[in-house]
Amino acid sequence: MDKYMELAYKEALKGMCGKHGGPFGAVLVKDNEIIAKGHNEVLSGQDPTAHAEIVTIRKACKKLNTIDLSGCTLYVTAKPCPMCKGAIQWSRIKKVVFSGDYEDTKKLNFDDHLFSEGFDEEDDEWSQVDPDRFDILIRAFRSCEHDIRY
Ligand SMILES: [Zn+2]
Repeated sequence: MDKYMELAYKEALKGMCGKHGGPFGAVLVKDNEIIAKGHNEVLSGQDPTAHAEIVTIRKACKKLNTIDLSGCTLYVTAKPCPMCKGAIQWSRIKKVVFSGDYEDTKKLNFDDHLFSEGFDEEDDEWSQVDPDRFDILIRAFRSCEHDIRY
């Protein structure tokens, strides 16, 4: 597995086990250096916008003291939702690598598929790796037995 995706998975597990939110983790990399990592904090922060991508982008911008993350690659455990795609575009991140896709998050009853359907798929530098790996997070999420829906 890609080492950065591995870290994104670790972030997802950390957030899930801490009951911060769903099985989503992200790592932002520039020139082979980890700039920031984060996980979903929707529940712990009582913030519906605290998706792993947003949390990570906020940390990276503070760390680099910029709002322009050009040249960075975002690794995320599942394909970004439309809100995160907007944040990715606003922060000028061109490369996104994800593992699970919308079909996977649908299995968890996350209802973002309702507004992801028909979502523009023309993501020029987005790519998927380890698509089957997301099942690990699905199983872990279910075993945590929390009732997270958003
Ligand atoms: Zn999102």
